[in-house]
Amino acid sequence: MSDIIQLLPDHVANQIAAGEVVQRPASVVKELLENAIDAKATYIKLIIKEAGKTLIQVIDDGSGMSVTDARLSFERHATSKIKTAEDLFQLETKGFRGEALASIAAIAHVELKTKQEEDEVGTEIKIEGSEVTSQEVCVTPKGTSISVKNLFYNIPARRNFLKSNAVELRHIIDEFHRVAMAHSTIKFDMYHNGAEVFNLPSSNDRQRIVNIFGGKTNEKLVPVTEETDLVTIHGFVGKPQYAKRTRGEQFFFVNNRFIKSPYLNHAVNAAFEGLLKDKSHPSYFLYLTVDPISIDINIHPTKTEIKFEDEHALYAMLRSSIKHSLGQFNVAPVLDFDRDSSMDTPYEYKSKAVQTPTIEVDRSFNPFKDEKTSGGGSSSSDKGYTPFKKESAGSWENLYVGLDAEVTPTKTVENDFSSVEFESTEVTGSLFESDDKKIGHHTTYQLRKKYIVTTIKSGMVIVNQHRAHERIVYEELLRNITMASAVSQQLLFPLTLSFSKKEIALLETVKEQLENMGFVFAEQSLSEIEITAIPSVTSEKEVSLLLEQLIHDLENEVPDSGFSQTDLLARSIAKSIAVRTGVELAQEQQQYMVNSLFACTEPAITPDNKPTFITLTVDEIDKKF
Ligand code: ADP
Ligand code: MG
Repeated sequence: MSDIIQLLPDHVANQIAAGEVVQRPASVVKELLENAIDAKATYIKLIIKEAGKTLIQVIDDGSGMSVTDARLSFERHATSKIKTAEDLFQLETKGFRGEALASIAAIAHVELKTKQEEDEVGTEIKIEGSEVTSQEVCVTPKGTSISVKNLFYNIPARRNFLKSNAVELRHIIDEFHRVAMAHSTIKFDMYHNGAEVFNLPSSNDRQRIVNIFGGKTNEKLVPVTEETDLVTIHGFVGKPQYAKRTRGEQFFFVNNRFIKSPYLNHAVNAAFEGLLKDKSHPSYFLYLTVDPISIDINIHPTKTEIKFEDEHALYAMLRSSIKHSLGQFNVAPVLDFDRDSSMDTPYEYKSKAVQTPTIEVDRSFNPFKDEKTSGGGSSSSDKGYTPFKKESAGSWENLYVGLDAEVTPTKTVENDFSSVEFESTEVTGSLFESDDKKIGHHTTYQLRKKYIVTTIKSGMVIVNQHRAHERIVYEELLRNITMASAVSQQLLFPLTLSFSKKEIALLETVKEQLENMGFVFAEQSLSEIEITAIPSVTSEKEVSLLLEQLIHDLENEVPDSGFSQTDLLARSIAKSIAVRTGVELAQEQQQYMVNSLFACTEPAITPDNKPTFITLTVDEIDKKF
């Protein structure tokens, strides 16, 4: 049998390599920007058309290339950055694999113009799908300009796989931000479809962050500094009160390279322990400098993970230096950061006035003792609780007519939740009271400030308050958006919120739907929006978080069709507005919730398909006895 192994032609090998290096326009942007930085540029200009689908151009004033180097730069494994294997462990540059330009040239139309300081004239090379189509002498300033046109022109599958322009542009801006933040002394400009998007003068790290994320960022930053043999840490963390519900602004740079590290992220969160409201995330911009020998970045070319030699020590240092900064700048009550953090008073409690704790669990309560029962009942009325509402018949009840008299709600709850203690005297009290009174009117009970329990003909229903409300609000918002029938509430004073340019651009894409929902936007600048009216279903203090969450959701999932965009919007906002677990609901609110839920088109599930309620039939209950 003849030999069957063949060597792949170069252009095929390059195309395969390109699959790894270039996932989308943003990957090209990253490679080109990094090359410009490696070439010691002081001014880098990024020009994008159609979110990088038709043009990505990077112009730098760096070292430039000689004629030979210009030609060689497109060869695979052609790099000026390592010569020996040892060099790999001392890398100070971004690139070293010599793969990027070869890969990009394999899947696009590339034009390179470059000139070194000492040369009279420069070199211009054009390549299409790894084929050099022309090489000429040209007049060009010192430095390099690379244009990448029609990305993936010869791989239709990849081109079709690209997301909408809004999504691809966002990825590009993310890469641009990361590189620009890691090199604040370099001047950066960015243009998209002829319009300037960013203009970042040479500055320092703090100024760079402010230039990117908007003027209000400055006052939110707390500096962090630490110098040890192992690592130099500098940068900023956001003050706890500005922590966001989404993870937007979290950046680690190691030796001026953006990295992701869940482990170090954990260290930051540990430093913020007790200072943040539930589910909020601190902002951080942290620059770590370590000996290149102590890290391993020789991994997948586009990945941003990194391996540290002494992770544990790094973790401890990061955590303590941030704790120290928060303490020093008086944003944290704890200065002594060697203490066990579990002993610390959470920050949010510090500022609160002393309150007499309310007793949540009546441990002596015995549901089978009548005396105790009435005791529970009276304590509930002490607190102004309305245990029983006669006019509770709502539309949903038509689905479940009447209540079997022999079922006592007390037993029902007791048995199904045998492991669950009754929450409060109110709940138990009202349970007994309703039992005493006329059965057939549906009283609702709130359990653990999480569930609403009520009876139906066949047994009982347990409604998850947050999920139910999510469904209710979602359907209402959808109606409002599609029919533009929302009711607004005028704000006494306009609400001014600051966002980054990227975030504002994103909100812009859903402005019409937001207006249909009841938002009225007065003015909008590059970094701020002014809101004069909000949907009546929300409150003023929710708006900022709600928009933040929306931006986050839009960023992570931007469907192209109008319908699903509306759906996403309604889902995101419903999630933000829906009443949370832990919120005590008055009797009327509980009943409103149950009635509105069963009036929904699809009451059984949340917009993202989680059950909103469960039922427990008398048969099922009987079986448990
Ligand atoms: P790597 O960056 O891994 O070395 P690349 O394919 O990105 O590989 O680039 C190949 C080589 O081309 C680089 O090593 C560098 O010598 C040269 N080069 C690329 N871009 C520039 C630029 N903007 N200015 C000067 N030289 C460049
Ligand atoms: Mg490179």
